[in-house]
Amino acid sequence: MTKPKGGTPSKPSTGSSEHVTILERSDEFIRAVAASLDAYLEIDKDGKICEFSRRAEQLFFRDRSEVMGREFSIFAPIDEPNSQSNIESESFANFEWQRLIEMGPRGPISPVKEYVLVDSQNKEILCEVVSFVVADDPNCRVALWIRDISDVRRNEEALAASFLHDPLTNLPSRTMFTYQLSYALVRHQDAPGRVAILLCDVDRFKGLNDSLGHDAGDEALVALAERLKSIVRPKDVVARFGGDEFLILCEGPLAGATATHLAKRISEVLAQPMAVKDQDVYASVSIGIATSSTNAVDAVALISNADSAMYLAKRRGGNRFAMFNDSLRTEVVTRTSLENSLHRALERDELVVYFQPVVNLSSLRVVGVEALVRWNHPDQGLMAPDTFIPTAEETGLIVPIGAWVLNCACQTMETWKQGSNERQDDRIPCEPFAYTPGNGGLVEVNLSGRQIGDPDIVATVAEAISKSSLSPDQLVLEITESTLMDDPEAALSVLEDLKSLGVKLAVDDFGTGFSSLAYLHKFPIDVLKIDKSFVMEMGNREEDTAIVRAVIDLGHTLGLEIVAEGVESSNQMEILQALGCDMAQGYLFSHPLPAASLLVLENS
Ligand code: C2E
Ligand code: MG
Ligand code: MG
Repeated sequence: MTKPKGGTPSKPSTGSSEHVTILERSDEFIRAVAASLDAYLEIDKDGKICEFSRRAEQLFFRDRSEVMGREFSIFAPIDEPNSQSNIESESFANFEWQRLIEMGPRGPISPVKEYVLVDSQNKEILCEVVSFVVADDPNCRVALWIRDISDVRRNEEALAASFLHDPLTNLPSRTMFTYQLSYALVRHQDAPGRVAILLCDVDRFKGLNDSLGHDAGDEALVALAERLKSIVRPKDVVARFGGDEFLILCEGPLAGATATHLAKRISEVLAQPMAVKDQDVYASVSIGIATSSTNAVDAVALISNADSAMYLAKRRGGNRFAMFNDSLRTEVVTRTSLENSLHRALERDELVVYFQPVVNLSSLRVVGVEALVRWNHPDQGLMAPDTFIPTAEETGLIVPIGAWVLNCACQTMETWKQGSNERQDDRIPCEPFAYTPGNGGLVEVNLSGRQIGDPDIVATVAEAISKSSLSPDQLVLEITESTLMDDPEAALSVLEDLKSLGVKLAVDDFGTGFSSLAYLHKFPIDVLKIDKSFVMEMGNREEDTAIVRAVIDLGHTLGLEIVAEGVESSNQMEILQALGCDMAQGYLFSHPLPAASLLVLENS
């Protein structure tokens, strides 16, 4: 117990912690009031103000001398509190000071309550108030600690609004949409097919953002949101799912048909350009449609179905829509199980790297090998990369898988250089090719788009080189032409960083990615690999040979080495030799083989 100030004896405490109401004006208490960020005031038995702290003066813009002895109700708004702030608080005019006084000092401290108070300018302030009786009989008083929570509440409200609404487009947010979809599914739970959603993803939005700038990207999203709103029925919901994705919810007996109709309308309205930063911008979207069924019982499942359908639309080239159906469901299930087992493939050592020779077309000697991954699946046997690399890309698993292939390729080169290659597995069909890695032999490793986007890629490559005794220029990193063209600016900066390690860079599958050689010259590349589709057609028609000739000539003019992929016949090889192609790869020389099957010659 602290000592009472001014000698007024305090009432004896009841000892009950629920009735801690006896307040003594100790020095500590006065200091606490002075230091507090909360305002403090007291009301006497007649409802008049008899204490008013410095912080209260600041909060209410009133001098202590001016308020002392006045009714406490000068702090209550004259009218009802302003409702535009959405504040559900009590009116301070109804503050129950009398009831507190009646309960006396042994009454409980009142719970924290919210009131709207006003300052000297009649400006409303939302406050949290704690009140209790001061046991300073005979002048029993009510003490109030008052905290201004206007800013806190405003921030809370803004946060809640931004959570439910997208501030850029002013559309409902993903959270809000998910709530609305959940309610719709509950409403129609006995009638599958009455709820349909469209998930729209802008095609190549990143390119638009990068070429015109983020402000223009934002403007395009706003314009797109307006177009979507302009074509839906009033009761449909359009929401921003995030980034460049929008969701539309349709309800009704013909929800699926409405969604299909809407998807067609969206393509039509987007065929007209949008004015963005005084330019005409064309955007298209890929749309996935999913309809409620007995299999998609909740909002998250339905959105995930629409997402799978949207990816199908993208895979088919974009600017179209796809419906989620049973075959897509089977595909999703297969992919999910593939994804799950791929997660374990690395841990269980199920991946293997095969090597295919790259042959110099003048000397017909093997000058390098391309590392090509395979998956030794426990149930399905040896799986080709095309069956799992796309899933590895989608899930991001390609990053650790790619790093593993890179390290494995470098380490294998290391063992070959040391001449320790021994046939370890005679069961593997042999088609041995002779390889003398020496100090100039090359090992080529494929990098996927996801790896190019991985912030650690340069460190990963540097580490793989340093862990082997390979000279950096023995490592060739292959990036497909379509990966380069996906996001040329980002690719350029990563390729420059990789190049600074001293490695060589190759463009893989050239001819399939719609770039031009002149454009590719901006990239720090050394090697061009002509896609096998062109090589295989060679000799059949004059124009196919002409394409390969043009690529070789222009590539040479730009100082690039040319590799032809997919050489299967001596005729193709001879044509390539006549065209001056530098190197070739293909079944004519060897299929890709496991490391142990390669016949490695002594260093020369
Ligand atoms: P790619 O990098 O263009 O590799 C060449 C592909 O052509 C290989 O297929 C190879 O076996 C095949 N090939 C070689 N010569 C011939 C031929 O004469 N005729 C025919 N028809 N095909 C031939 P593979 O091993 O199935 O690999 C397919 C693709 O998978 C590769 O194409 C590459 O893009 C990707 N890939 C393979 N390993 C990796 C890897 O470790 N990482 C990444 N990111 N991608 C990989
Ligand atoms: Mg390749
Ligand atoms: Mg290729």
